Amino acid sequence: MKILGIGSHPDDLEFGCGGTFAKFSKAGHQIHMLIVTSGEIGGEPAVRRREQERSARILKAKTYWGGFRDTDIPLTRELIQMLERHIRDIKPNLIFTHHFDDTHQDHRKVSQATTTAARHVRNVLYFEVPSTLNFNPSVYVDIGTFLPRKLAVLKAHRSQVFQTKVPDLTILESAKSTAVFRGYQDRVKYAEAFVPMRLSLDFAA
Ligand SMILES: [Zn+2]
Repeated sequence: MKILGIGSHPDDLEFGCGGTFAKFSKAGHQIHMLIVTSGEIGGEPAVRRREQERSARILKAKTYWGGFRDTDIPLTRELIQMLERHIRDIKPNLIFTHHFDDTHQDHRKVSQATTTAARHVRNVLYFEVPSTLNFNPSVYVDIGTFLPRKLAVLKAHRSQVFQTKVPDLTILESAKSTAVFRGYQDRVKYAEAFVPMRLSLDFAA
C-alpha cells in the first residue's frame, strides 16, 4: 500500500501520525511525506529540512517539499494543483493530513486544500497536533511497540523538541501523553487517533 502524509511544516506528520507511519513502514508499506513549507518561521530552513530528512530515513520514507512560505500558505488553486500533482504521481491508497479545525492558519489551509485535492482518493484521514481544535476521532491505530520510534522521529527534529511554548514541556512528553490518552480510548496502551474524511474498509492494511 502507498501512504501519503501531507503536513504544513517539518514535524507535523511525526506528531500526528509518526507511530502509524513507523508501524506501516515496518509492515512493508511505502511512506511518502509531502511538507508544504520548510518551517522557516520556527527555525533555520536548511536545518529543518535536514531534520525532516533524518526523520524520513528512520521511517524509510520519501520526502517531497511543497515550496510554500511558512505562515503564509494561500488557499489557492496553485496549492491544490501542487497537491494534485503529487497525488497523481504517487497514487496513494491512503492519505493523512491536518484536521480542518486548528488555530494555525497553515494547518487549516493544508487540510482544506487536501480535502479538495484528494477528492478521488478512497482513504483520507485527518490527524491531530497540539494546535488542533474540536477533534472527535473515530479511527484509531494501536502504535503499542512503535511509541519509541514515534519519539525518535520527533527527536530527529532536534530544533523543535523544546518549542512547545509551555514551560518545561517537551514535544516528546506531549506526544507520549497524547498516545496514552488516545490509547485508553482505543482500549490499548498507546494509539494515534484520526477523524475520517473517508475510510474504505476493504483496503489492504
Ligand atoms: Zn505545523
